[in-house]
Amino acid sequence: MTFLGTGTSQGVPVVACRCGVCRSADARDKRLRTSAMVQIHSDNQAIKQSNILIDIGPDFRQQMLKHEVDHLDAILVTHAHRDHVGGLDDIRSFNYVQGRKMDIYLNAEARRAIERDYHYIFEPHEFPGLPEADLHEVDDAPFVAGGVEVTPIRAMHKTLPVLGFRIGKLAYITDANYIAEGEMEKLKGVEVLVLNALRKEKHFSHFCLPEALEVIERVGPRRAYLTHMSHEMGLHAEVAKELPEGVELAFDGLEVEVKSEKLKVKS
Ligand SMILES: [Zn+2]
Ligand SMILES: [Zn+2]
Ligand SMILES: [Zn+2]
Repeated sequence: MTFLGTGTSQGVPVVACRCGVCRSADARDKRLRTSAMVQIHSDNQAIKQSNILIDIGPDFRQQMLKHEVDHLDAILVTHAHRDHVGGLDDIRSFNYVQGRKMDIYLNAEARRAIERDYHYIFEPHEFPGLPEADLHEVDDAPFVAGGVEVTPIRAMHKTLPVLGFRIGKLAYITDANYIAEGEMEKLKGVEVLVLNALRKEKHFSHFCLPEALEVIERVGPRRAYLTHMSHEMGLHAEVAKELPEGVELAFDGLEVEVKSEKLKVKS
């Protein structure tokens, strides 16, 4: 998995902010809007290398160019806040190159929001240049995306239901501030857990750092990475020193390898 963006909705630096974090020269303090790409490397010929994108925010175009991504097999959407879907119009490039619609997996709330906000994609039209997408609504049951089995994890973002995703021994959850007991069960045995932590102080719709650390302790992964950070979190180098063993702040460009022995694959 590659972290393509690890910043909250405004990104870091924040436009017009002169704080120490926004003016930091450390590359790890420059955070595009939260997104990640899971690249499946498998012995199975059919999905030899499958690229699965998690969230398609306003920095999508820049993230694809920076990492020289030449194909996308599926997009998983956590929820339809603009910092997670604002790059949707730019799937056109992949539509042209791949010659097909983009498969997008999301919950009912995200589906409704995207059909409303990007209505022109789904209306009958005569313009060949518009984005083309197939929205696949998912809820509780595992599904196959990009050739691999994905387990959705339902969480709450204040009052908005959001989806986290588990692929083999990797789980990725962002923009949550509550995960119900039954959903916590689905995280059992993960090696790597990615979780949102906005800042140190409490927030109404995101886990703050102490809350995220509590969830991580309960899940007990081998490694945990925090994402979706605001400039209020502080300087990367300083916060990193305060974290418990096995927990790290993610940063843009960070790559993490996870071995999943019994990953279910389908061609
Ligand atoms: Zn967000
Ligand atoms: Zn700032
Ligand atoms: Zn959000």
